[in-house]
Amino acid sequence: MNTIGHLINGEQVNREGDRHQDIANPSTNEVSARVCLASRATVDEAIAAAQAAYPAWRNTPPIKRARLMFRLKDLLEENAEKICELITREHGKVFNDAMGELRRGIENVEYACSIPELLKGEHSKNVGPAIDSWSEFQPLGVCAGITPFNFPAMVPLWMWPMAVACGNTFVLKPSERDPSSALFIAQLGLEAGIPAGVLNVVNGDKEAVDTLLTDSRVQAVSFVGSTPIAEYVYTTGNANGKRVQAFGGAKNHAVVMPDADLDNAVNALMGAAYGSCGERCMAISVAVAVGDATADTLIEKLKEQIAKLKVGDGMDNGNDMGPLVTRAHKKKVEGYIAKGLEEGAELVVDGRGLTVPGFESGNYLGACLFDKVTPEMTIHSDEIFGPVLCVMRAKTMQEAMDIVDAHEYGNGTCIFTRDGEAARYFSDNIKVGMVGINVPLPVPVAYHSFGGWKRSLFGDLHAYGPDSVRFYTKRKSVTQRWPASGVREGVQFTFPSNG
Ligand code: NAD
Repeated sequence: MNTIGHLINGEQVNREGDRHQDIANPSTNEVSARVCLASRATVDEAIAAAQAAYPAWRNTPPIKRARLMFRLKDLLEENAEKICELITREHGKVFNDAMGELRRGIENVEYACSIPELLKGEHSKNVGPAIDSWSEFQPLGVCAGITPFNFPAMVPLWMWPMAVACGNTFVLKPSERDPSSALFIAQLGLEAGIPAGVLNVVNGDKEAVDTLLTDSRVQAVSFVGSTPIAEYVYTTGNANGKRVQAFGGAKNHAVVMPDADLDNAVNALMGAAYGSCGERCMAISVAVAVGDATADTLIEKLKEQIAKLKVGDGMDNGNDMGPLVTRAHKKKVEGYIAKGLEEGAELVVDGRGLTVPGFESGNYLGACLFDKVTPEMTIHSDEIFGPVLCVMRAKTMQEAMDIVDAHEYGNGTCIFTRDGEAARYFSDNIKVGMVGINVPLPVPVAYHSFGGWKRSLFGDLHAYGPDSVRFYTKRKSVTQRWPASGVREGVQFTFPSNG
């Protein structure tokens, strides 16, 4: 059986002392490989390789680092089909959806191609008599990235290309549930010319994460995953003196106004709620309809669309939805459906019990639709991360906004309306980090930055885009004067100023 190891100091390695975990195709549950779970010693080796590679890499001209990013972009495009197949076979999402993920990942590499421009500092001449001052952005050293299963290629690409382009070295710890695409992409990075040790990948679980969080050589940690682990990573990393950005879970609401084009809204909601089986941190999992008439029409139209949904193996692009990532995750989602019923929500469409011919052992679950969900229900308070859309009913836009604002998560939200004033009020006042206006998945493009509010993000700087240049560098301010030779000045005790 294929063993998925690590990439340390430019080499694919397996180490004695690592534990292992099976990787299964979610569509069949056939075991395709086993992944190594790095021991402390294996992670230590990767950090040492990154530390050793840092001095030379730090001093490599940014334009040379940028050229490697250009090459990486080409290699990613040349190998796109292979990467997407790896994603689909381990994650389960439909191949075309994997392609969308990869394209968004490549956009981050394209942004990193402009690193010489992005690293330009700020310069002021004559801040005092013959004194010049500037700010420059220096790399941090060894950085680490810890990523979730749901975007196995894109989220690593949010992190390491920019970190490495900024002059850092990197240790990536991908999700142990679907590690192959991240490992393969890192190999493409080396093929593009990234020197051995600059980019390392360790596969693993909590033991690997804890090693990265406590090792004093690691300067900064980027994390994406569920909120409890994000909070743990943030507090543990901070306690160990590291800069940390930790992106957590979400519960994204769409507010549907009575004046919205409901056909458009329903089409948008279908993709945003059920695409990738709802396993997206920006998935819309709640639609808050303003007015009962809006809710009733919405439910009817959603039911019609759900009846047409095609669920099946992700390698068939004719399908809209693949399987959930693991059996355990499917069970968890089904547990939430049972809980919703127990708490009094109306299950209008029940996707349980679905079997896909030829893939009877897969982790399939059909689309589910709940109506009359109320704020205190568990299916509203918790992130389900499955193909479950909850409809809530509000009397006014303000009541809908209060529901969104009261939620502990604040990743994404959107409003469907034809009223510009309502949309403007909503986007200005809603307490959520990423807002869509008639756009269901307002995931910023690579030259903006991505991040939620409240318990969807621990830390200050957002992911990718301009914020990531700041996250992966530290500012240094230099003030310089070259006194004319022979000039000697007396001692000055007052604070220097131009007064
Ligand atoms: P997860 O929290 O289970 O795992 C994320 C990473 O943390 C993995 O690499 C995993 O190995 C590691 N990990 C898991 N348990 C750990 C522990 N006890 N100690 C240390 N490390 C641990 O998340 P997941 O199930 O892989 O991903 C889905 C979650 O990620 C959802 O909550 C989703 O909303 C969130 N997510 C958020 C964003 C965002 O940008 N906000 C993006 C994608 C996914």
